[in-house]
Amino acid sequence: MIYDAIVIGTGAGGSTVSKELSNKGLNVLILEKGTSYKAGTATNHIITTSIDLKSNNIDFNKISRDKNPKTKANYEFFNFPAELMHVEGMGGTTTVTLANACYSYSACDHDSDSNHDSVRNHDSESNHNSDISYQKPRDLNQLEELMENNSDIEVSYIPRKFIGPATIKIAKAAEKLGYMVEAMPKFIDFEKCNNCGLCINGCPLDAKWEASHFINEAVTKGATLIEDFEVTKVLHQNSKVTGVEGKTADGQIKEFKAKNVVLSAGSLNTPHILRNTGITSGVGEGLFVDLFITVGGYMNNAGLNTELPMGIKSEFEHYFLSPHFSAQLVQLLQEKGYPAKNEDVLGIMVKIADESNGKILEDGSIEKKLTINDAKYLMDGYDKAAEILLEAGVDESSIVSTPIRGAHPGGTAAVGRVVDKSLETEIKGLYIADASVIQRAPGKPPILNINSLAKKAAENIVKQMKG
Ligand SMILES: Cc1cc2nc3c(=O)[nH]c(=O)nc-3n(C[C@H](O)[C@H](O)[C@H](O)COP(=O)(O)OP(=O)(O)OC[C@H]3O[C@@H](n4cnc5c(N)ncnc54)[C@H](O)[C@@H]3O)c2cc1C
Ligand code: SF4
Repeated sequence: MIYDAIVIGTGAGGSTVSKELSNKGLNVLILEKGTSYKAGTATNHIITTSIDLKSNNIDFNKISRDKNPKTKANYEFFNFPAELMHVEGMGGTTTVTLANACYSYSACDHDSDSNHDSVRNHDSESNHNSDISYQKPRDLNQLEELMENNSDIEVSYIPRKFIGPATIKIAKAAEKLGYMVEAMPKFIDFEKCNNCGLCINGCPLDAKWEASHFINEAVTKGATLIEDFEVTKVLHQNSKVTGVEGKTADGQIKEFKAKNVVLSAGSLNTPHILRNTGITSGVGEGLFVDLFITVGGYMNNAGLNTELPMGIKSEFEHYFLSPHFSAQLVQLLQEKGYPAKNEDVLGIMVKIADESNGKILEDGSIEKKLTINDAKYLMDGYDKAAEILLEAGVDESSIVSTPIRGAHPGGTAAVGRVVDKSLETEIKGLYIADASVIQRAPGKPPILNINSLAKKAAENIVKQMKG
């Protein structure tokens, strides 16, 4: 059997390509390294990789700060090793998302003429003042294209009744300090959502969009899905794709033949398969991860841990802030002597667009350095988050932060370096459709962007097949 296309991976990119090609009547085989697991258990599948960002090499004298911090700032995040997260298995990393669908400043500015209250929201009626990011409606054309391209994913602002009291407390404090606060767009069907706040575990009610929705659609349209099959390399002859080779869970080597292959193994795995295939130039370079920290403090019974996560956001030029509970904060507070339980933490995530200077090495290890700019944006964001927490009533001496983490790895087979604008590699018929092809850190949730790129790859394959 020769398939029209083999898709490697069932995450954001792979699921979209699979659905698009199957809907066009192509004969598609989907190969997934991992397996399906029960919704509600996704955090057990997070793979955390420790990275040394070499923060101790930073010359802090070279960092020019916008202004002095208003709170006692320890910036303790520089002292911990950084952590990178991804998931392997059915649905890839989409199972653990917090359903944030915002791509750029303008991605959230649909109602820029309407009135707002503490949380700008389609439901809200009262007046509002400090529109920092409203004044920067950038990327409007890109946004329109993105929303149009993703009309198959239901995206809406989080309704007011789903925003909990701890989140509102943060929103009010931020507004009082003059920062603009917006409701977060989510890919959640709020008719089905019971507001359990546990999106990171995978949604048992099927309310949150996950890649398995698109994989199921592809299978319904006739695609074949094989789980527990790890693709090791793409086969080719005379610079043209002929199929893939990989191994089953019990170590059996197998080949499948195809006219096209789409590599969507995620930006940490795609470079490895490319190198085994014989494509090496520029592969694995340009890694970004959208670095973030969560800054938090002690507040008795704040209750943020049971609210829908990241319900609002405040955007600044190089980072954004959003309410976020992290269990790591509880432990850090206990170490400081606070009687903290999960419900006693108020936290704010600071997420930056880091420089694309990382590398996946041939042995699979990751090399990445924190730059002066990365450090400055994290410090500036930390200061703003701490200032808001203080205004919200958190005890100043309790303020701590998690280690630096990254959850959006990308850039390791970028457009212009490894693939052309059609997302095709130097081997005809071999495409890449995952976060690897993104050129720069978005500093924002990337799924809408990845899915949009994956549709482009699918369109090009269909065009080639017809031509
Ligand atoms: C905790 C967390 C929260 C997040 N929240 C959000 C959010 O709210 N909004 C948002 O937009 N983004 C969010 N992200 C980021 C988002 O999930 C990822 O950027 C996105 O899923 C990446 O898509 P991808 O297609 O590149 O890779 P993935 O989704 O990771 O998919 C890669 C797939 O390839 C498979 N695979 C790997 N190697 C092989 C192989 N050799 N053979 C076969 N299969 C293979 C993997 O098992 C996996 O299924 C979050 C990430 C994390 C970690
Ligand atoms: S908050 Fe809603 S979308 Fe998230 S897991 Fe719970 S039910 Fe699902």
